[in-house]
Amino acid sequence: MTGNATRIQAIQNITNRTPVATTFPEPLSSLWASDVFTLAKMKESLPKEVFKSVKKTIETGAELDVSVADVVAAAMKDWALSKGALYYAHVFYPLTNATAEKHDGFISVQSDGSVISEFSGKLLVQGEPDGSSFPNGGIRSTFEARGYTAWDVTSPAYIVNTDNGATLCIPTVFVSWTGEALDKKTPLLRSNAAMNKAATRVLSLLGNKDIAPVNSSCGAEQEYFLVDANFVNSRPDLLLSGRTLLGASPAKGQQFDDHYFGAIPERVQVYMQDVEEQLYRLGIPAKTRHNEVAPGQFEIAPFHEAANVATDHQQMIMTVLKNTAKKHGLVCLLHEKPFKGINGSGKHVNWSVGNSTQGNLLDPGNTPHSNTQFLIFCAAVIRGVHKYGPLLRAVIASASNDHRLGANEAPPAIMSVYLGSQIDNVFEQISNGKITGSLNAGVMDLGISTLPIFNKDAGDRNRTSPFAFTGNRFEFRAVGSGQSVAGPLVSMNTMLADSLNWVADSLEAHLAKGSDLDTAILATLKEIIDTHGAVVFGGNGYSAEWHKMAVEERGLANLKTAADALPVLKEKYIEELFDKLGVLSPVELASRFEIYAEQYILAIEVEAKLVVSMVKTGIYPAAVKYLAELSSTLSSLKDNGITLDAGRLTTISENLNSLTAIIEKLSAAIAQHDFATIEDHLQFCAKTIRTLMDEARAFADSLETEISDELWPFPTYQEMLFIK
Ligand code: ADP
Ligand code: MG
Repeated sequence: MTGNATRIQAIQNITNRTPVATTFPEPLSSLWASDVFTLAKMKESLPKEVFKSVKKTIETGAELDVSVADVVAAAMKDWALSKGALYYAHVFYPLTNATAEKHDGFISVQSDGSVISEFSGKLLVQGEPDGSSFPNGGIRSTFEARGYTAWDVTSPAYIVNTDNGATLCIPTVFVSWTGEALDKKTPLLRSNAAMNKAATRVLSLLGNKDIAPVNSSCGAEQEYFLVDANFVNSRPDLLLSGRTLLGASPAKGQQFDDHYFGAIPERVQVYMQDVEEQLYRLGIPAKTRHNEVAPGQFEIAPFHEAANVATDHQQMIMTVLKNTAKKHGLVCLLHEKPFKGINGSGKHVNWSVGNSTQGNLLDPGNTPHSNTQFLIFCAAVIRGVHKYGPLLRAVIASASNDHRLGANEAPPAIMSVYLGSQIDNVFEQISNGKITGSLNAGVMDLGISTLPIFNKDAGDRNRTSPFAFTGNRFEFRAVGSGQSVAGPLVSMNTMLADSLNWVADSLEAHLAKGSDLDTAILATLKEIIDTHGAVVFGGNGYSAEWHKMAVEERGLANLKTAADALPVLKEKYIEELFDKLGVLSPVELASRFEIYAEQYILAIEVEAKLVVSMVKTGIYPAAVKYLAELSSTLSSLKDNGITLDAGRLTTISENLNSLTAIIEKLSAAIAQHDFATIEDHLQFCAKTIRTLMDEARAFADSLETEISDELWPFPTYQEMLFIK
């Protein structure tokens, strides 16, 4: 098809589509976790002693008794077969943002040629996928292929139903033959263990006797775009890179704020219900849904869970969102910036730490000034963000998230902490050496007798902060929508572990000098806030003044692009942090830098190639055709005595010439590969290639607004964002 024929057909397809029928959802009680091998199901099917042993491992982190594995495997298999599964898969999380799985049949062929279904403890506990095709950052050469998956008993097994049948999925870690972590789950589990150890040390110094294991919790809010598949399929950029690399802004974008929290379009609501039903079956507590700021943008947030389980669930949410969209003729875009000029998508990672004996350690209660436990944990976070802010920036660094951060829609690339006025004030008192009280939150009286009077929260919200305290947790808002939450959680747990160890050392030192506990606590808190208070900021994080003040007066880093941020992973103090806490060895950390740097370079190269090909094969031919038509029309009119202004001819041809010249430069830049260091290559991508892409886009987008719509080959912003 030529010209706009594909676009017209797409619009017709969408207009005439038969809607996916809404089904009345089953009651939550029958849906909930029906596809999960839950503790309750284990209790039903396992001998008492075996169940007790597994439960202990799950709940307290006690070592797994491998002798029970055979029994658990048999029960798991029976349950899976009863759900129609013929295959099982060890599911793991390689160093991309994806989920990987290797399927094996339960089938076992006997010597007489008959088959039985078999699943032993050994197969449950350990698997051996070929590890060589996953990024390993130099940990393994391609010919050294062995990689192992190992059962993570703390995250429940579940059944995934697809049109191709049911599969029993078992969450696992993924390590190399030499024992190095090749995945995102291993460091997450280790970071949690390090944090637990340090937190227990502090809690015990504070006088607690009964201390249950401390775990981190995570609730991640996921933003996404939905675009009709008819449009996506005719946009090579969306199809291959997940974002539009070209495209003029429509007359109407998000300026009326009429999409945010608006009524959810019917087609989308049917999709959301379908998604939620699947999530409930998988035991994923989807809790909120709403329209987001940009047209075509939405959000889903589950209730928070233990960080490890929440991370596995988050990966499943992304998979379910994408797969279900296909069923509804839509494409779910998890890219951080699919469309220029309107908001991109993030993933707010809500994080707290706590246990069953002391509760949420980041809950200030009504009188934070007298809650020393909270103040210590909160101060430890402040110290962590100040010391390791560049690390937090590095773990969310990607080619796609670069477009969002600091773009007046998402927090800046400068890592600061927002506490809210009440907690701010308590730390100010600490800094002055004397704690006197907590500011009162007060009540909200609207002066309308029919409306209730209610208690206000003690602190307001601040949308512009990348790391905000929101009442009983911190919310890391700079995380990208397509990213795994594992990296952010690993770095938060690790920085907290480091700070809590410092706190414990400090308390011990003060106590050894003869101070009483209260004096030791106050001195420790004061030292933290005096040394690290520069990272606390309650003002407008989008403003130019903050960008200047943060860097010049407060000494905070502003690592604008991933090319600036990723090398932080190579810094000595980061290597020491991960190494001393046993979260990542220097070799493992180095591999992460290599992999993420490579992914950044590859992502930008793919985008640049797409720009070149879309211009050469789509835009150039359309523009030339229009010029030819226009000039022949103008000259034949002239022959008939009618003279029209030929200015458009000049504008379009000049734009086209400029565009062609930039595309030549861009092609040459893509071909360049001789860089002294990987850092040089990163900067080249960030500065040279990206700049050329932006320049090309400016001319291409202006051509889109100049030439005949009849010839324009790619679906427009107006179509993609507003037609559903
Ligand atoms: P908002 O948009 O106001 O930030 P949402 O309700 O969309 O709020 O999401 C808040 C997320 O934070 C949810 O996933 C929620 O379960 C989670 N959350 C609440 N309390 C905690 C906590 N103590 N620790 C971790 N996550 C939490
Ligand atoms: Mg939020």
